[in-house]
Amino acid sequence: MSAIDHLLHANEQYAATFPGPRPLRPKLRLAVISCMDSRLDLFGALGLDIGDAHLMRNAGGLPTDDILRSLALSQRALGTREVVLIHHTQCGMQDFDDETFREKLAAESGETPPWDVPGFHDLHATMRASLARVRGCGWIPHRDDVRGFIFDIATARLEEVT
Ligand code: ZN
Repeated sequence: MSAIDHLLHANEQYAATFPGPRPLRPKLRLAVISCMDSRLDLFGALGLDIGDAHLMRNAGGLPTDDILRSLALSQRALGTREVVLIHHTQCGMQDFDDETFREKLAAESGETPPWDVPGFHDLHATMRASLARVRGCGWIPHRDDVRGFIFDIATARLEEVT
């Protein structure tokens, strides 16, 4: 059984007890930006329920152009107000060599990616830069409640970065 077959099997059980649709606009008026890491269960770790928040994930949980695009939509069209950023310990993007990665993609495909995949060294400095990027983004109308946390993969505890 492939991983996708496993998903389909699980979905049948999930749908059998599904309580039905919820409103489109997130109940907590919250957007969470986080890493895509498979060990980061945002629903469990943050006590979220279906329909509570927009979850925007990418490699590293960095506020890239695409994340800012989604966040602008989230706030302007769907009513979210607060923003939480979550990075985490043991991240795959820590010490990642973006330049070599992009060179390899360009060499293999003949096409240089228009995006970068910024790796980082210092988790706290990266979070401070991420917070500054969101707080400085004029496309996002609500920037008073933007907070950043580092999730510890070993303990599941959040540390706020101020
Ligand atoms: Zn990560």
